[in-house]
Amino acid sequence: MAYGGNRTGGPRRRYGRRKVCRFCADKKATIDYKDIRSLRYFISERGKITPRRISGTCAEHQRKLTEAIKRARNIALLPFTASHSLERGDSRTR
Ligand SMILES: [Zn+2]
Repeated sequence: MAYGGNRTGGPRRRYGRRKVCRFCADKKATIDYKDIRSLRYFISERGKITPRRISGTCAEHQRKLTEAIKRARNIALLPFTASHSLERGDSRTR
């Protein structure tokens, strides 16, 4: 059955999945600036760092993550912007 009128205003639950910091959940997971694959997960398509509220990363790990990403950028492992993502060959089927 569908939701009826919810006038009293119950608890707000917008997300079904639980938000647990990836690095807290997995003790083996490390934050390494050389580990581009892991870092990529926390970077948007435009090359921005995914906000904590979206990724669910805790403050402590988010900070480490940010440092790792910045470091990776500085040694050109990751792009500052998405301006030069030609080598990835994203779907351009037009
Ligand atoms: Zn954490």
